Amino acid sequence: MLKRIMAMILAIIFVLVVFPALISWADYLKKVPAYQFVVDGEVWFTIANRGALEKALTDYQQQYLEKVDPEAQVKKISFAQDVQFVPVEVRKDQIDPFEYAVERIYAVEDEAVEIIIKKGDNFWNLAKTYNITVADLEILNPEVDPHRIYPGDKLVVSPFNPVLDVMIELENTVLEAIPFTVQYQKNNNMFTHEKAIIREGTEGEKEVVYQITLRNGYQEKLEAIQETTLKEPTNALVRIGTRTTVYRGGRVNYGVVQGKRISSTYGWRIHPITGKRRFHDGLDIAANHGNSVYAYTDGRVIEAGWNGGYGNCVLIDHGNGLKTRYAHLSRINVKVGQKIKTGQKIGAVGSTGNSTGPHLHFEVIKNGKTQNPLNYL
Ligand SMILES: [Zn+2]
Repeated sequence: MLKRIMAMILAIIFVLVVFPALISWADYLKKVPAYQFVVDGEVWFTIANRGALEKALTDYQQQYLEKVDPEAQVKKISFAQDVQFVPVEVRKDQIDPFEYAVERIYAVEDEAVEIIIKKGDNFWNLAKTYNITVADLEILNPEVDPHRIYPGDKLVVSPFNPVLDVMIELENTVLEAIPFTVQYQKNNNMFTHEKAIIREGTEGEKEVVYQITLRNGYQEKLEAIQETTLKEPTNALVRIGTRTTVYRGGRVNYGVVQGKRISSTYGWRIHPITGKRRFHDGLDIAANHGNSVYAYTDGRVIEAGWNGGYGNCVLIDHGNGLKTRYAHLSRINVKVGQKIKTGQKIGAVGSTGNSTGPHLHFEVIKNGKTQNPLNYL
């Protein structure tokens, strides 16, 4: 009887204690299918749910598409590192928590370094200070125009560098302007400072296909692989003058004469005593008697000799409706009909005609009307 009771107690102990322990021990030793996430040959973690991890990896990669043109065609997204899922059989306790896997995927080696622009900063000196190239500075700050940075603006000087690098290959087609060129047409009826636009230029347009590789969102490679001209530019045509005039330099060199000062300007004058208004149609340059007088520009002498109040006077026709007069000369060195070069000596300063002292009366006549000579000298 006692033996039976003992056997029953043992059986109960076996059923209640030993058997479950054996089962849980067996369960503990039992292996389940899982995946090792291997990066460049190193096992980062082991997970059971491959689908969930793939989703986490895709989310991780997608964050770098946020600043990419939605119109761009994404060709490939990958990791710079060799990434593999290796199927394994492990004990349940050897499987890592999913949060740990996500933490490792998002791990960062270097955070981006951002600075605040100060007065006087520019891409060139900032690149020097932070020991990177100007080109790299532009790559790190694609939304910043290097010519328009202002104190207070932020600038990335060192890139965000995650442990797991995301490579994105994409293609984008953009419209770009084709600049026009300017053709020049020389014209000797116009002076060197004159310019006339005969035909405005217009920019052309082209479609450019770029092949781009991004590393963690930053441009690593950018190449134009195809260009299609949609509209040709039309070149501008500009007429430029080649004609020179005498050079006015220094305080007393008026070009047409070496003078002392301007003794009377062009325009209306009120006589201080009589109060009478009188129009002075030239520029009076006080100068030493006998100083050389020079031709304003190329032309032909049409008057040379005595002319009433002007005294000894030379009138030169420069063509294109332009004439210049030189009056009160003491001596005349040219003859009517003679061709004259810019700066050629035509006579000497005097005080002939209605003149109170040695000076050159210089007149500029355009299309029959006198002009203010100071606009020509
Ligand atoms: Zn005068």
